[in-house]
Amino acid sequence: MCDFTLTTSLKTSPNHLMVSLDEVQTQQIQLIRNFSHELRTPLTLVYGYMQSIQRRNENLTDLQKNALEIAMFEMKHTIQLLQETLDLARLESHAICLRREPVPLDGCVSEAIAIFMKAKEREIVVESQQSNISVLADADRLQQVLLRLIDNAVKYSDAAITIRLEKLEDFVAISICDRGCGIDLQEQPNIFDPFYRVDRSRNRNTGGVGLGLAIARVLVEGMGGTLNVYSQLGEGSIFKIILNSSERCD
Ligand code: ADP
Repeated sequence: MCDFTLTTSLKTSPNHLMVSLDEVQTQQIQLIRNFSHELRTPLTLVYGYMQSIQRRNENLTDLQKNALEIAMFEMKHTIQLLQETLDLARLESHAICLRREPVPLDGCVSEAIAIFMKAKEREIVVESQQSNISVLADADRLQQVLLRLIDNAVKYSDAAITIRLEKLEDFVAISICDRGCGIDLQEQPNIFDPFYRVDRSRNRNTGGVGLGLAIARVLVEGMGGTLNVYSQLGEGSIFKIILNSSERCD
């Protein structure tokens, strides 16, 4: 009986096996989507209640204020984790549709920098060998990717950040360069994996959840491009996005 089952399953065609694996993966993504969505909603509500308690905190002792602050920090982190997990699951299940239309790069980059500067301060230099470069992309999503990469460059370095724009025949390269801590060569292939963080002990300082690069890469690939890292430990990192130029002639 056992032998029969084994033989039958071994005889299953590779195509059939692929279909089953696809189904399992789809179900897993669906489960993650539902789970993150169902948890995020009540936690956001609880966070709102905590904020209102914090605003009217006259009756709280110092100990209670401190406990509330810690609870709110953890809650915010968890909500961010759920939101990003949900984003990644939606992207992987193609529930989010990415456009591919001509986007003026100068405008998109300047807007991302302006948005970033509202929240944090850092010198950001844009270097471009030619003006009016246009890429095939989804403007909002490209801006989201740029914001994530700029935010990382600022988190993991102390000096000015450079954004280099280059037109390479049919392609456009956008490089976000920092002179920060850099990433060990062995770690570099892993940093695009969900929840991978090179130095987990820095979690508290940098505040990330380890999903930023995974989301950024899925977004860039969804726009038909690539996202790679070039980095040297102690020297800094370059995150390079390559997208099709909108003047590409096929
Ligand atoms: P997070 O920053 O939230 O931890 P990311 O997915 O954005 O998650 O990045 C994954 C890991 O890659 C980070 O934990 C960090 O170790 C490393 N990393 C990302 N960007 C940089 C950078 N510019 N310089 C050095 N390390 C980086």
